[in-house]
Amino acid sequence: MTIPLNQYVCITGASSGIGLEAAKAFAHLGFHLILAARREELLEDLKREILQTHPNLDIMVKKVDLSASDNAYQLYEDLKDYHISVWINNAGFGNYDSVAKQNLEKMSTMIHLNIEALTILSTLYVRDYQDVDGAQLINISSRGGYMLVSNAVTYCATKFYVSAFTEGLALEMQNNGHKLQAKVLAPAATKTAFGKVATDSTQYDYDQHFKQYHTAQEMADFLIRLYQSSDVVGLVDVADFSFQLSGPLFPY
Ligand code: NAP
Repeated sequence: MTIPLNQYVCITGASSGIGLEAAKAFAHLGFHLILAARREELLEDLKREILQTHPNLDIMVKKVDLSASDNAYQLYEDLKDYHISVWINNAGFGNYDSVAKQNLEKMSTMIHLNIEALTILSTLYVRDYQDVDGAQLINISSRGGYMLVSNAVTYCATKFYVSAFTEGLALEMQNNGHKLQAKVLAPAATKTAFGKVATDSTQYDYDQHFKQYHTAQEMADFLIRLYQSSDVVGLVDVADFSFQLSGPLFPY
């Protein structure tokens, strides 16, 4: 797949984990980058690091808290002048707790980010790019967006939304003859800051909590495989941690 000049990929949640590694992977393919998250200094560090190996790329940093819907609209508006061939809604977080014990303020922020911001940004992108050659919208769901995980019910429910919304959008695009491809990435356990954020702790030992997990770099490689395929879903099989590409999985 050759990348035409002056095409951008926008990645939300690029300051850490899967989003950060995805930024490096798309830079390697020759894409200019738009990197969005709240921690601007981490995005600037990443920009500097990528420019050392890819000095000809244009890399834009956008400091934004996407849990506020106005900020999601503003981010999209600010980017109207760029040709964004790939939009990746990756910003998101989880929570490990029973429903009875979960912190409702944190749940509200999670729902605003995982569901609302993703829906706003997906919709605005689809409006502008549904008939643009090569346009792709990739939403980061989870294995927990296809199966329930104990102690993470509300998080899983947000990711079921991401999977269903994105699969439905992919079918809508195909059925109406649009060019945009909508895709879902469904990682299983991946060693990032996710565990710390989900448990509100400063330490989280993936070796202690999971028999198997992927690195963020491995997950970014899977994301590139999904991007380069014509499939809709890229999902980690929890039986053996293999990566599987397929069509939509929900009944339609
Ligand atoms: P991570 O290392 O914690 O990265 C999360 C990213 O989201 C960070 O860049 C963070 O940046 C950004 N973010 C969080 N809140 C935000 C907000 N209010 N506004 C804007 N950006 C925000 O975790 P990760 O594992 O890479 O997570 C990436 C995606 O993968 C998430 O959607 C997650 O649900 C999904 N996922 C992860 C796993 C896993 O095991 N790691 C498994 C399945 C799915 P700032 O803090 O700088 O804003």
